[in-house]
Amino acid sequence: MSYGDTLLFVNNIWRESRDGKTLPVVNPASGQEIGRVAHACLDDLDEAVAAAQKGFETWRNMTPSERGKLMRKAAVLIRERSSEIATYLTMEQGKPLREATAEVLAAADIIEWFSEEGTRVYGRLVPSRSSLALRQMVVRDPVGPVAAFTPWNFPVNQLARKLGAGLATGCSMLVKAPEETPASPAALIKAFADAGLPPGVLGLVFGNPAEISSYLIKHPFIRKMSFTGSTAVGKQLASLAGQHMKRVTMELGGHAPVIVCEDADLERAVKTSVMGKYRNAGQICICPTRFLVHRSIAKDFASEFVRQTENLLVGDGLKEDSQIGPLANERRVKAMEELTSDAVARGASVLTGGHRIGSDGNFWSPTVLADVPLDAKVFNEEPFGPIAPIRSFDTLEEALTEANRLSYGLAGYAYTRSLKTSDILSRALEVGLLWINTSAVTSAEMPFGGIKDSGYGTEGGQEALDAYLNVRSIAVMND
Ligand code: NAD
Repeated sequence: MSYGDTLLFVNNIWRESRDGKTLPVVNPASGQEIGRVAHACLDDLDEAVAAAQKGFETWRNMTPSERGKLMRKAAVLIRERSSEIATYLTMEQGKPLREATAEVLAAADIIEWFSEEGTRVYGRLVPSRSSLALRQMVVRDPVGPVAAFTPWNFPVNQLARKLGAGLATGCSMLVKAPEETPASPAALIKAFADAGLPPGVLGLVFGNPAEISSYLIKHPFIRKMSFTGSTAVGKQLASLAGQHMKRVTMELGGHAPVIVCEDADLERAVKTSVMGKYRNAGQICICPTRFLVHRSIAKDFASEFVRQTENLLVGDGLKEDSQIGPLANERRVKAMEELTSDAVARGASVLTGGHRIGSDGNFWSPTVLADVPLDAKVFNEEPFGPIAPIRSFDTLEEALTEANRLSYGLAGYAYTRSLKTSDILSRALEVGLLWINTSAVTSAEMPFGGIKDSGYGTEGGQEALDAYLNVRSIAVMND
């Protein structure tokens, strides 16, 4: 399947940028250029934001069920086109086609769920203290045009989460999707366009991320911004949004602890951890990244982890038998090299992997590190790659202290057969998402987001809609 070039989508028209500038898109499995993506200039942003404002006026004045109908049409088209969209996704991002297909189908589910949930955004009537004739109403309205910044690791799914909640509540959405993985989010947006979304309700731009974010966040038409990406960039954008009093949702980095207690079902702990660790080659914000294993079972855990890791086939995601694709960009390979050599220099041992594979593309051998000291970079910086660092602990208290040591608070995992330990972990772990005795299970109806430096707000569940709504009080005297 040919990949082709990706255009901007402004006022329901697919087009080049006004100055004709483009950027290359590279297949991470081969290192070869596979297409170009249009690079928006300021004129494009001016037009896109004006269209978003107009689109908002149209969209907010449609009923939630009319909006929901169009969203469900888009979900049907996404399912019909899932094989095409997933192929783009694998070609530009690297993940195995099986994972890419699951991501696209999950996106359709998310959009469908929000299309229904949007019809259940209710206000309320509050009895007055002074007179029964005074009708006091609480109403919830869409916040306005939203600027959404989406990441390259889940270019389809993370976009679907923002579009689902934003469009269902009546906001127009202007998306800055990732320049490195542009075709799959563009194909998602095309499904909405083909479903009949009115002009300006949904826009798509690519370009210089810093230039676009500073332009859009300051712009008076934009009332909210939503960002998924690194904590460092999220903090910069949140601070800019604060200066302009714009609402934010921030889905940022994590460094998920995995506490494996001495009474854990070891077989399950290893199997689900390996599965979670290497999905999308470890480039997931909720990926398990700090393995803390009770000393009595640490050796068995590590050796079984290594055995299962070595059975995984690394290769081009388009090949049917590949289980781990290349890293999405060269920066991640450099980061894996640096994290591994730093850990080894500080005394960790490499149980398997620890090196680049070949010279074409960004392939990295899945890596297990043991006896990793706490000051190793890999135990402090989000690895965002296929490295599993393991440490042992003696007491639950010690494990909890380590789990909560970092400023991140996104995902956490634990394995225990004890109800009491499970309850202690549920209360004590400072994370927005906690999975006990299971790998990550996510769905549209469950909140999804972090606490502490991992972000602000949630992109799942009913709570996700609140982020796109203003609450207003209205009182009417009827006597
Ligand atoms: P990066 O920090 O440069 O960029 C992260 C993302 O933010 C990219 O999509 C980039 O286009 C965007 N970005 C950067 N500066 C921006 C700005 N001023 N305005 C708007 N958007 C901006 O790093 P990177 O090399 O692309 O990614 C590596 C790190 O990013 C990883 O270590 C990981 O922590 C984080 N990340 C997290 C998620 C997530 O799901 N939370 C997704 C992707 C990347």
